[in-house]
Amino acid sequence: MNLIHSNSPCQRVRPLLDSYVSNELLIETNHDILRHVGDCPQCRTALQEIEGTRIAVRRAVRSIHPPADLRERICASLTPREAAWTGSLRPRLAAPHVMSRWMAVAAALTAVVLSVGILRNLTLHRNSTGLLHVGWMDHKECVQAGHLPARPPTREQAVTRLASHSGLLGVVEAEMPGYVLRQAHECTVAGRKYIHLAMAKGGHIVSVSLVRKNPGERLPAPKSATIEGVEVFGFDSGDYLGFVMGEVSKDLPGLATKLTPRIQQVMQTL
Ligand SMILES: [Zn+2]
Ligand SMILES: [Zn+2]
Repeated sequence: MNLIHSNSPCQRVRPLLDSYVSNELLIETNHDILRHVGDCPQCRTALQEIEGTRIAVRRAVRSIHPPADLRERICASLTPREAAWTGSLRPRLAAPHVMSRWMAVAAALTAVVLSVGILRNLTLHRNSTGLLHVGWMDHKECVQAGHLPARPPTREQAVTRLASHSGLLGVVEAEMPGYVLRQAHECTVAGRKYIHLAMAKGGHIVSVSLVRKNPGERLPAPKSATIEGVEVFGFDSGDYLGFVMGEVSKDLPGLATKLTPRIQQVMQTL
């Protein structure tokens, strides 16, 4: 679905932003949108506004605390007959109008309780899965698209390029024995800057990537997903989102588990 490569990309992208934020689109469409938003400040602003609204709604939902006496008040408002019915839980004895009134109350309460819970879970889940795409983009563009340099950087070059983040190099070297450095750079993908290390063992390449968070982005608990054959492990690291990723392999989950706390540690000292 090559929605975005048309004559009026903005007009194509705008109506999709809402669904994009809800993670309802095909992965390839997500990528097209990310790519466009990276280049187009207007659509980027539109996307940020939608994300901002979602965050505000989430905050509002979290602050809903039904009053403790709600149940009592509902019961008190029932007629004796309704109360008897609800007490006995024998719906067959209830007159149809009584039943429908109580059912309406029950349905409304259930809807509130369910929607609060579902909203909380879904927004968290969707957002964090969406965030894993942010890391994945870097691995895809720099590693899978064949943009690794023919000659890997020397350690000295890597330290220079990573500048204030060169402490990461020591971490990956220590935690990834048997892997050799294939890339170390600061790169820009879809308008976002990454600190990116790629390590290779045989033909298997693992990316360690960090990107500064945008407002509202967070991964309170480490999260993983497989996106187009790439396993992406994401985590919070101060002002950054951190990612460990590579083609699905049995080593990768263990590596991610070891690397995550060490990266978080070193990022705190920068
Ligand atoms: Zn645009
Ligand atoms: Zn890169």
